[in-house]
Amino acid sequence: MQVPATFAYERADSVPHAIALLERYGPDARIVAGGHSLIPMMKLRLAQPEALIDINGLAGELGRVAVEGDELAIGALVRHAELLDSATATDLFPIFRDAERVIADPIVRNRGTVGGSLCQGDPSEDLAAVFAALHATAVIQGPGGVRHVPIRDFHRGPYETAVEPNELLIQLRVPVRPGTGSAYEKVERRVGDWPVAAAGAVLTVEDGVITRAGVGLTAVGAEGFRAPEAEELLVGRPPDAEAFAAAGRVAAEHCEPHADQRGPADYKRHLAAELTRRALTTAAGRI
Ligand SMILES: Cc1cc2nc3c(=O)[nH]c(=O)nc-3n(C[C@H](O)[C@H](O)[C@H](O)COP(=O)(O)OP(=O)(O)OC[C@H]3O[C@@H](n4cnc5c(N)ncnc54)[C@H](O)[C@@H]3O)c2cc1C
Repeated sequence: MQVPATFAYERADSVPHAIALLERYGPDARIVAGGHSLIPMMKLRLAQPEALIDINGLAGELGRVAVEGDELAIGALVRHAELLDSATATDLFPIFRDAERVIADPIVRNRGTVGGSLCQGDPSEDLAAVFAALHATAVIQGPGGVRHVPIRDFHRGPYETAVEPNELLIQLRVPVRPGTGSAYEKVERRVGDWPVAAAGAVLTVEDGVITRAGVGLTAVGAEGFRAPEAEELLVGRPPDAEAFAAAGRVAAEHCEPHADQRGPADYKRHLAAELTRRALTTAAGRI
């Protein structure tokens, strides 16, 4: 039987209360949201927090999806299933529907949260590539107040993020622009599995020319889950098959996939090119 080490348990009743509890218990305390990453790690004793700060009572503060001005705001405690069901999010950005349909299974999606996924910082995380493609901003709150961190600076390395031990990720904000299409393409070994490789694409087109591009990659060792060289290549060009194939090649050249149980490195690099091309093609068709 897998049994976690002993820990204290506290249930936060507000964001400031959660931050106060993090301060009280110090760096060995951990936030628990859906628990689908943290609890298995505790059972295997890969994580041994001295205290768990449960934020599941904060859905009023952290569980909303809403358009605010020219941004889509997604609370950190929004469950995968809620994001998938949110017409507000998926009508504006079909990339959320594409990705959430293929993240894990309904049991994990009913409990796992957007914030937990991003804070886990797994190098194969689907939503990390999605939010990188969307040029989102992470809103982080701590004892000193609220700060905004571009999602492309959020992931500092495998399982490392910009969230300090006494801080909480509270929200993701995504710019909403007219003339924008988005899509996500993933190859997995079986339904509900982590990606062998996946690519997200977000394109804004004005007067027949790409004016903004976002390309996110996961599971292929792309720094910050992004492909800036491919984005640079796209801007200023018409959204056509030639540009999308070239962007796929450039994205694949600049990532660093590693061989593992999901496949050899050259296969993953091939997927990075092909999935980028397909995601860009679908995104352009949705504008
Ligand atoms: C069987 C299975 C299959 C899966 N398949 C996939 C898949 O195909 N693709 C994919 O992308 N993911 C997959 N996952 C991962 C799943 O999506 C995440 O584990 C889960 O959503 C993490 O969210 P959580 O709310 O459960 O986080 P938790 O386990 O509660 O927390 C994870 C980490 O984030 C921290 N944290 C959580 N919320 C916050 C916050 N608001 N502020 C600061 N820190 C916070 C915690 O302290 C902890 O360190 C799978 C998981 C399982 C169990």
